Amino acid sequence: MSIQTTNPATNKVVKSFDEMTDKQVQDAIALSDKTYNEWKNTSFEQRATLLHKVAKIMRDRKTELATLITLEMGKIISQSEGEIDLSANILDYYADNGASFLADTKLNPESGEAFIRNSPIGVLFGVMPWNFPFYQVVRFAAPNIMVGNTILLKHASIVPQCAIAIEKIFLEAGAAEGLYTNLMISGKRSSALISDNRIKGVSLTGSEAAGASVAEAAGRNLKKSVLELGGSDAFIVLEDADIDKAVEMAIVGRMNNNGESCVASKRFIAVAAIADEFLDKFSKKVAALKVGDPMDPETQVGPLSSEDALLNILDQVKRFEKAGATVLVGGKRASDIGAYMQPTILTNLKRGEPTFYEELFGPVASFYKVKDEQEAIELANDTPFGLGGSIYTKDIKRAIKIADQIDTGMVFINQPTSTSPDLPFGGTKGSGYGRELSELGITEFVNKKLIRVT
Ligand code: NAP
Repeated sequence: MSIQTTNPATNKVVKSFDEMTDKQVQDAIALSDKTYNEWKNTSFEQRATLLHKVAKIMRDRKTELATLITLEMGKIISQSEGEIDLSANILDYYADNGASFLADTKLNPESGEAFIRNSPIGVLFGVMPWNFPFYQVVRFAAPNIMVGNTILLKHASIVPQCAIAIEKIFLEAGAAEGLYTNLMISGKRSSALISDNRIKGVSLTGSEAAGASVAEAAGRNLKKSVLELGGSDAFIVLEDADIDKAVEMAIVGRMNNNGESCVASKRFIAVAAIADEFLDKFSKKVAALKVGDPMDPETQVGPLSSEDALLNILDQVKRFEKAGATVLVGGKRASDIGAYMQPTILTNLKRGEPTFYEELFGPVASFYKVKDEQEAIELANDTPFGLGGSIYTKDIKRAIKIADQIDTGMVFINQPTSTSPDLPFGGTKGSGYGRELSELGITEFVNKKLIRVT
């Protein structure tokens, strides 16, 4: 059974689910298409009312939904609650601001009148990962429901109960059947759906391999795609940074979500003048982190999302060591029961080694001491990824100049890359293309229709 809840704190299977049959998938696509033809004619007010109701239900059931997140993928409970709050805030934000983001744009032609109308395009297919099971879905679905599109959502196979809960909440909030549909299918079956004529666009958040498969199918079928893929964000500490603050941010940046975040700070780069001090303070804090039961409010780092995820990162650490890296802190499994990993710092990584270019998806930081700002920028850019990154300094003008030279979709100054309803999110290079959230995200799947009046 490939679709099941396995509690990573115990590695016990809690519940299993049957995949949908091909016929059930076809029926779901047909219903989504039918509903689209009604939903596209609704007003912004009707759409906003629905999103506000979904937000309210999520807030009202925060404890129950957060517990489900923690059960299925191991996030510590306070962060699961934070994810539900963030998701509800995103729903409200697009309910409140969607109409103005999507308003007609008046043009000034040489004669007559013309404007651009943001029209919906139809059924969208979303393929989402397990690491933020509510947030990832909502940041795709909420703006697109405001546009007038309908959603077919294939969630990661390890969070089926979260996937079912989201669909139920939409229905309970009054969504027509087919407006938001959970497709209980495996990743393997996903890309094939893209050739269906009724599906007009696809958005995937996940690994490069899954992204390439979806992008290939979308390209072959001439359909718009948005890809949010992996990252290996640099965390650059300059000589004039507030070191204690930077260390605090480094812990948040690397260990949030048990380290399983695309925009986690993964590569810590400090200039020579302060590198030893930074590393000394950072390693003491990492070694002192409390790893344990994600339901215990005292826990700082929970289990990884699955035993497979743990084995994968343990294997990476081994291969990094073979390639010359040193394990300064941690590096091992933290418990015989459950998918727990010791918070880890690796040093002495070698540029040019294949391992250097891998994403570390878990509580494992890599550390680099560099001569100066220029070397920090070169190292930061020496990665196949281009998602986020952050710079620590008191000199904001200097930080903005450095940000200009970093090849990523997002650069944050004096805080790790993060997300909020009103800011665009997305990357470049191997981290994908397109944006989610903000005015940029809400217009990814619209037909920018020219209407000309003479
Ligand atoms: P994954 O294996 O790519 O899974 C993500 C989703 O894609 C799941 O629903 C999965 O379904 C599906 N999938 C897998 N193979 C597929 C294929 N060949 N065709 C179509 N769909 C397929 O990713 P993951 O390892 O679970 O998640 C971690 C990765 O996601 C990391 O690289 C992380 O950086 C990235 N991520 C990026 C962002 C961002 O916003 N940029 C956010 C979060 C995570 P199954 O579960 O059924 O296999």
